[in-house]
Amino acid sequence: MPSKDSPSPIVVWFRDDLRLDDNPALAAAVGEGRPVVALYVLDESKDGPRALGGASRWWLNLSLKALARDLDKIGVPLVLRKGPAVKTVPAVLSEAGAGNIVWNRRYDAPGIAIDKELKSSLREDGFVAESFNGALLAEPWDVLNGEGLPYRVFSPFFRAMNARGAPAQPQDFKAPSERLPEAPSLEGEEIDDLLPLPSRPDWAGGLRDTWTPGEAGARKRLEAFLDDRLCRYAAQRDMPGEDATSLLSPHLRFGEISPRRIWYAAGDRTAAQDEISDKQLDKFRSELGWREFSYHLLFHFPDIGHANFQPRFDDFPWRKDKKQFRIWTKGQTGYPLVDAGMRELWHTGYMHNRVRMVVASFLIKHLMIDWREGEAWFWDTLVDADPANNTASWQWVAGSGADAAPYFRIFNPTSQGEKFDPDGTYVRRWVPELAEMPASHIYKPHEAPREMLEKAGVRLGDTYPRPMVEHAKARQRALDAFQTIKNAS
Ligand code: FAD
Repeated sequence: MPSKDSPSPIVVWFRDDLRLDDNPALAAAVGEGRPVVALYVLDESKDGPRALGGASRWWLNLSLKALARDLDKIGVPLVLRKGPAVKTVPAVLSEAGAGNIVWNRRYDAPGIAIDKELKSSLREDGFVAESFNGALLAEPWDVLNGEGLPYRVFSPFFRAMNARGAPAQPQDFKAPSERLPEAPSLEGEEIDDLLPLPSRPDWAGGLRDTWTPGEAGARKRLEAFLDDRLCRYAAQRDMPGEDATSLLSPHLRFGEISPRRIWYAAGDRTAAQDEISDKQLDKFRSELGWREFSYHLLFHFPDIGHANFQPRFDDFPWRKDKKQFRIWTKGQTGYPLVDAGMRELWHTGYMHNRVRMVVASFLIKHLMIDWREGEAWFWDTLVDADPANNTASWQWVAGSGADAAPYFRIFNPTSQGEKFDPDGTYVRRWVPELAEMPASHIYKPHEAPREMLEKAGVRLGDTYPRPMVEHAKARQRALDAFQTIKNAS
């Protein structure tokens, strides 16, 4: 056992919780007054969590650098390792001479399996291993219906979650009053070797211009949201030209800020500022509730990432069409809202929620391409690519999910644009070749009179594509295909 003169270190295993604030595992470790070693393991083994996409790897590189700087200020080194966590974590504990390890829980099936295996084997070997809730407002096993089963529909889920009482308060990070005893120096990977930044070609310029990964960046986004956006959130969150949402999703994805911190910060600001009504707050909190719902679904139904939640969709006659899929990814469909969204995604690693719904619906229903192909593209290109939110949302749009949009509700990409971006602000931003089109036709350049197109400098089929499919025909084809599986159980 460690003596008081040479206390054994505690290892904090960081995963999707790359922050100091409201981090129960870190707080538990630092509170002991013993040396603390922070560990991050990039586990790309076949049994590990889903391999990250390109945009997420870019984000993670910068987020780990920010975390390393913040931890250094309190005397905690961040050690980076690569390999299967089930082997790497015990090796680090023994190299560090540590007797304890702490971490915050995760909810994806491979992550849970690894954590369970590690917890029991470490405990058998005499280590103290403890886990905490750092990621959710409520644990999935605590929000169940009267029969003790998980909810499959959002509204009753969210009501039940709220009926349990307010989420736990976030805990401020308390820096140790004295510098922590020095931690052992362990070898580790360099961040840029572990997660190289793109160089040939450097495709991350738009990401750099848009985001500041790390805890400080997350706090800034939260403050900006509370200052200017929360007061108009309910009315404008659906309008992609209005910049009314928080842009916190990638920060939440990597745990640079906790949902508890956001929940309470929004509540406090609403109470303090007359111009923010409870309606805005409730709407915003319900979106945090959708995140919870997705995580609870992922926990209870671990296959939702790859299998249709409703098995009848297994027989859906998806089309394989590489050419059309590529046109969609490039934002060249001839439908301005779809093209604007796909180009926003490519440039910034983000897309507005309303537009995500429309582009996903277009791929699944107008092109009849399997939702899993679109989900994988989002997984690779989104900076907020999230194991719960991404799959649950794609299944929601497909109609194959738990609480899903009915399959026959097919978004009309033209009228969605006219309704939610009536001036065409969003399209002008992302599809510059249409910037001079008047609002009346910016969402339907293919119906514009010749003189209007000429005046706006648009040559259909040349400067901007004609629609790749005709809406009414594509809609009917999708509905007919749905009939083939409609009555299957
Ligand atoms: P805000 O409106 O400010 O909302 C605050 C937070 O609530 C978000 O950061 C997010 O964590 C959560 N949230 C908001 N809307 C939703 C929602 N519909 N479902 C679940 N959580 C929500 N979100 C991701 O975080 N990662 C994804 O990979 C992802 N993929 C999606 C794929 C599709 C096809 C669709 C339709 C939606 C997807 N979403 C995903 C949900 C949503 O689009 C984003 O969370 C939202 O656009 C993020 O912007 P924001 O932070 O400004 O959101």
